[in-house]
Amino acid sequence: MEKKYKENKVLLFFKKNIYAILMVVCLAAIVALVVYTVVSGNAADAPDEVPAANVVDAEGNTISNSDQPKQEEPPKQEATGGTAAAGDQPVATEQDFVISNPIESAEILKDYVDSALVYNATMKHWATHQGVDYKADVGTAVRAVFDGEVASINTTTMRGTEVVVKHSNGFSTTYALLGPSVPVKVGDKVSKGDVVGYVAETGYFESADAPHLHFEVRRDGKLVDPNYYFEGNDNK
Ligand SMILES: [Zn+2]
Repeated sequence: MEKKYKENKVLLFFKKNIYAILMVVCLAAIVALVVYTVVSGNAADAPDEVPAANVVDAEGNTISNSDQPKQEEPPKQEATGGTAAAGDQPVATEQDFVISNPIESAEILKDYVDSALVYNATMKHWATHQGVDYKADVGTAVRAVFDGEVASINTTTMRGTEVVVKHSNGFSTTYALLGPSVPVKVGDKVSKGDVVGYVAETGYFESADAPHLHFEVRRDGKLVDPNYYFEGNDNK
């Protein structure tokens, strides 16, 4: 009698377990269905999102969303033009810092020298020359060597009017010994080749030399040799 009772009890538990198992199987099936629906739904949406998330830079390299600079760094005007179809999200490109000549004739009066001292006839002392001097007549247009934003315009007795343009990747370029009248103002966006000032003889610094532009390149605030960054040179 007691044995039969036990058997009944086992059977009862077994039946209960069957229901529980069926419940679990049903739940698992529902969960699997939901997960599948969500995943396949995302997969179906993904192709629409890819063009917006990825950018092709000037050299045709695809830049993933995670590589894009934060929105507070404004993208260059021209660079956004071609790929603006992705919507109103700014399309930033990270171009290599390959510069053009700030003076069209590109005639170097005094080159960059940081490993030896050169005589400065104006200052009557020997010093390094951490810029490149481009010979040019007074009034010759001085052009931005790369896309950027005018960061400062200062006039001093020594360096005349000096325009600093800030570029991406920590680079900035300085155009010194300009005349006081410049066609840009602080905050202006400039493109490679845009006129940022005109050669003058306003600055005393290097004034014993023929009229010229004193041009400097800085990376992270440190003067570097501009010659490395012209087309064909690959010291990035
Ligand atoms: Zn110089």
